[in-house]
Amino acid sequence: MRINLAKSAGFCFGVKRAIDIAQRLALLNKKVFMLGDIVHNEEVSQKLNRLGIRKIKRLGYGRGKILLIRAHGAGRDIFAKAQKRGYKIVDATCPMVKEIHRIAKKEDNKKRRVIIIGDSNHDEVLGIAGQLKTKALIIDPKRKIDVRKVKQIKKASVVVQSTQDMEKVERIRVILEKWVKDLKFFNTICKPTRIKQKEMKNLPRESDLVLIIGSKTSANTKRLYEIAKKINKNSYWISNEKEIKPEWFKGINSVGITAGASTPEETIKEVLEYLQEVR
Ligand code: SF4
Repeated sequence: MRINLAKSAGFCFGVKRAIDIAQRLALLNKKVFMLGDIVHNEEVSQKLNRLGIRKIKRLGYGRGKILLIRAHGAGRDIFAKAQKRGYKIVDATCPMVKEIHRIAKKEDNKKRRVIIIGDSNHDEVLGIAGQLKTKALIIDPKRKIDVRKVKQIKKASVVVQSTQDMEKVERIRVILEKWVKDLKFFNTICKPTRIKQKEMKNLPRESDLVLIIGSKTSANTKRLYEIAKKINKNSYWISNEKEIKPEWFKGINSVGITAGASTPEETIKEVLEYLQEVR
């Protein structure tokens, strides 16, 4: 059985950077807290938890504590509240997400309505919206577009969640261009996501079966799975090697593998080792 491992499988630059920052803080024995998981992956969260980095739901008393802002970023209200409560803030927001913040803020200051194409409940999207003075319009590709709201906008600038599927975004762009006369479009899907998605256009064609590795809470892994499934029905989304079923491999000569941006290398390695045994 031939194994095709996508070159881009696993951690992207922004996730790696955020985890490195978290690990360095832990080594300094600081009291580090995060609002939610550093990335959407259980193994990574458990590992950081073992190092003493704590996940919290809301900000408490912050003197002597560090609040680590995760790769997805956060809104201005979180920064302001954390400072007020006495936390020292260490910002691990991915520079590519920061760039989306910069564009969105600039357009907002020009009094253009900011439209964000992205998952409406995702931290990154909320973080982008949380940079602005005027309420952003969020268009979630999973939901029907509220054309009534779109039609009311005269001048708009569109930014995109970094991990969105380019094809879906393009479809939304065409609709927006129809209804908003003065529309500026910023394709802010990040480079690592584009590379991963590009690879997913070929890998499912070149392989009899495709495994997409990543947590079920990871939106970018889900999108890779959706792209693969459309091309190759034999595509499976697994969190780790324990979810693989040996019967999937009957009559299979080639397996394509990729992994979401928040999937650690060890998980990918374990899947590869498992496949060495079944082949
Ligand atoms: S997916 Fe892109 S934007 Fe998000 S953390 Fe990774 S590199 Fe940064």
